[in-house]
Amino acid sequence: MRHLMSDLPKTLSLPYPWHEQQWNGFNQLIEQGRLGHALMFNGPAGIGKRRLAMALAQRLLCTADMSRYACGSCKSCLLMLAGNHPDLSVLEPEEPGKYIKIDSVRSLCILLGKTSQQGGWKVAIITPAEAMNISASNALLKSLEEPRGKTLLMLVADRPSLVSATIRSRCQKQNLSLPDRQVAGHWLTEITDNQEQSASTLQLAAGRPLLALEYLQSDSLEARNQFESLVDKLRQGDMSALDAAQQCQKQSSDLMLGWFMDYLHRLATGELQNSPNSALFGFSDKLVKARGWVLSGHNLNPQLMWEELFMDWLQVWRGRG
Ligand SMILES: [Zn+2]
Repeated sequence: MRHLMSDLPKTLSLPYPWHEQQWNGFNQLIEQGRLGHALMFNGPAGIGKRRLAMALAQRLLCTADMSRYACGSCKSCLLMLAGNHPDLSVLEPEEPGKYIKIDSVRSLCILLGKTSQQGGWKVAIITPAEAMNISASNALLKSLEEPRGKTLLMLVADRPSLVSATIRSRCQKQNLSLPDRQVAGHWLTEITDNQEQSASTLQLAAGRPLLALEYLQSDSLEARNQFESLVDKLRQGDMSALDAAQQCQKQSSDLMLGWFMDYLHRLATGELQNSPNSALFGFSDKLVKARGWVLSGHNLNPQLMWEELFMDWLQVWRGRG
């Protein structure tokens, strides 16, 4: 049988440099005993929200005095490093893009209702929170409404509007925006040792440093370029929707839909010229809907989905000029 909770990381997390201000704020709240029972980290994907939540969880569970970060040597930190801390739970879908199961939420609530095993805080992270459907959200509500003792629940959401409004209203919101370009660029350059490439990739990743790093470290940048050139070819009438759809079988649809949205965003904000804005707007809605289906785990035929989308895409450009 599969474990309902995810395996814990065997590392201690530090917040990313662009989250220093939030980190200081958390430390202040902890020192003043004013940290709430439920926090919600909202913001675009690829900026390190999950890492911030994990660092906070580890900092809270660390038992060293006056420690601004998890110390790495107390009993609690050692349990953490062994991937084995009994008072930390992480709840996420079994596979990216799938729902978090209601049974997992129920188990988590039972865990949160018990006293902590190490005598300190009990902490849970749910990521992404939008992967909870209505019934899973309802199951979580009780824990949110009747928090016991030193319990902290952290929800991480790329698209908070998809999280149940009741859940959202019970959480202290941490709205995390895109990091400062300079701080993020500097961080990326320290890894790549190439300032120019870091800046241009960060630009392509719409200012999201972790996405930029992913592009730089994998061949996803090349795959993305290929996808964009496919979309360009369609736009210029150099390829049929059918052929293009056939070339979209290798990558995950979710990933490609995200690329398509970024591409549209660049068109609409004028990075590419002569874009028919109103038609693009309508098409953007279709992409959002398609992504909703993909994320909801519907058994879509990707070939058909892409054919239909690409036909619509051709419509956007038909008869122009
Ligand atoms: Zn410690």
